[in-house]
Amino acid sequence: MLSDAAITAFKANLRGELIKPGDPAYDAARKVYNGMIDRRPRLIARCADVADVITAVNFARTNKILVSIRGGGHNAGGLGVCDDGLVIDLSPIKYVRVDPKKRTVEVGGGSLWGDVDHATHAFGLAVPSGIISTTGVGGLTLGGGIGHLTRQCGLSIDSLLAVDMVLADGRFVAASAKENADLFWAVRGGGGNFGVVTSFVFKAHPIHTDYAGPMLWPIEDSAEVLRWYRSFITKAPNTLNGFFAFLTVPPGPPFPPDLHNKKMCGIVWCYTGPLKKAEQVFKPIRGFKTPALDLVGPIPHPVLQGMFDGLYPPGHQWYWKADFVRELGDEAIALHVKHGARLPTMQSTMHLYPVNGAASRIKNTNTPWAYRDATWAAVIVGVDPAPANKELISAWARDYWTALHPYSAGGAYVNFMMDEGEERVRATYGKNYDRLTKIKKRYDPTNVFRVNQNIKPGK
Ligand SMILES: Cc1cc2nc3c(=O)[nH]c(=O)nc-3n(C[C@H](O)[C@H](O)[C@H](O)COP(=O)(O)OP(=O)(O)OC[C@H]3O[C@@H](n4cnc5c(N)ncnc54)[C@H](O)[C@@H]3O)c2cc1C
Repeated sequence: MLSDAAITAFKANLRGELIKPGDPAYDAARKVYNGMIDRRPRLIARCADVADVITAVNFARTNKILVSIRGGGHNAGGLGVCDDGLVIDLSPIKYVRVDPKKRTVEVGGGSLWGDVDHATHAFGLAVPSGIISTTGVGGLTLGGGIGHLTRQCGLSIDSLLAVDMVLADGRFVAASAKENADLFWAVRGGGGNFGVVTSFVFKAHPIHTDYAGPMLWPIEDSAEVLRWYRSFITKAPNTLNGFFAFLTVPPGPPFPPDLHNKKMCGIVWCYTGPLKKAEQVFKPIRGFKTPALDLVGPIPHPVLQGMFDGLYPPGHQWYWKADFVRELGDEAIALHVKHGARLPTMQSTMHLYPVNGAASRIKNTNTPWAYRDATWAAVIVGVDPAPANKELISAWARDYWTALHPYSAGGAYVNFMMDEGEERVRATYGKNYDRLTKIKKRYDPTNVFRVNQNIKPGK
């Protein structure tokens, strides 16, 4: 039991807010992006700075209460929030400092990707992230980070140069290739298992205006599109990324009314090479089969990064299933076509994200991310605003995944998983799991940080 005196002392030592059940801010503060998650923490510490994070970690450890770390709050399984424990909410630690000479960017642990894109774009630079700008830098990076720049620049962790962290014992440390190298290895894919990252330093890339956007084809053509895509994307130049999707066309601009609410298949392209060569690069794509809609053209990088934000506001119901995929055979394509045609709601979708190109230049053991040799990270997400459709979207995603799982590589990208148990976490880290457990034992022997895709401390 936590005494009132302990809570009062904790509050007095924080510069940020401490929110408790019954406080006016409590219900908004415990909400995360996925509306399916409804957890009631004992306390929420809005940490204003590193000192607050140290205080919060020490408080949780000495009082033996569960801790969750909240970055952007986007996690599929709601791992930023916990029942009956302390939420270390990093959202006030939001800043981005660009060093245009060194082409590096320092980012506060509670920042969102939109903050980073906004700050770096002014200098003609970009950091590889995801495809929605409201996602947290913290969770996305620590799990790996797949997005529009994966084929050109690799995963987000491949551009990570250093972190500052608060460890389970309250110590503040830096980690990089030169300092605490074991810890630096572990955080590049091992999630929030090793401590609270208060700052990230990334290498930034000279990317300003992309030639990018979605191209859609009728759903009846999906088998043909997938067969063409599977060989095209593995041979494409690394400056070209394209993820495949089954989708329902939103009923509004920029989509023409005759396509509204139609189920279709599409590829969202992002070309980051010289703009004058873009038309040439897209010639074989446009020549393969004229798309029903072609919205690909020059676009500022942050606009592409925020293109789908409006379609996916916070608070919807989300049910996620995922797998890595090495090969996309004809049988698997037939199953994709069957389940893709059954999208249960307008926002439900299936994406195949390429993890080939630059991401595959790095060995599976160089970071914990053990599927560099996969070709795609597949994710099936049932999404809808209505809680009444929770079962509908979940059943569709489960059925789809069950049909395709036998054709997968085994594990799944940690950031695309909900709570699927220890075996699935092991499968995902593969040969890297044992090394992760040893590092976990060194830095968090009592598993203070366990509200995550948990890596148990080694024996
Ligand atoms: C709409 C949407 C789109 C997405 N698109 C992509 C995509 O394109 N590419 C991709 O790779 N992923 C994508 N994701 C998945 C995303 O990477 C994960 O959901 C990730 O966990 C989100 O990070 P967050 O900080 O917002 O999450 P939170 O829920 O805040 O945190 C998730 C977990 O990350 C850890 N964590 C977060 N911040 C820190 C920190 N500073 N220090 C230590 N641990 C921390 C904690 O363990 C925490 O429990 C998407 C998710 C959503 C909902």
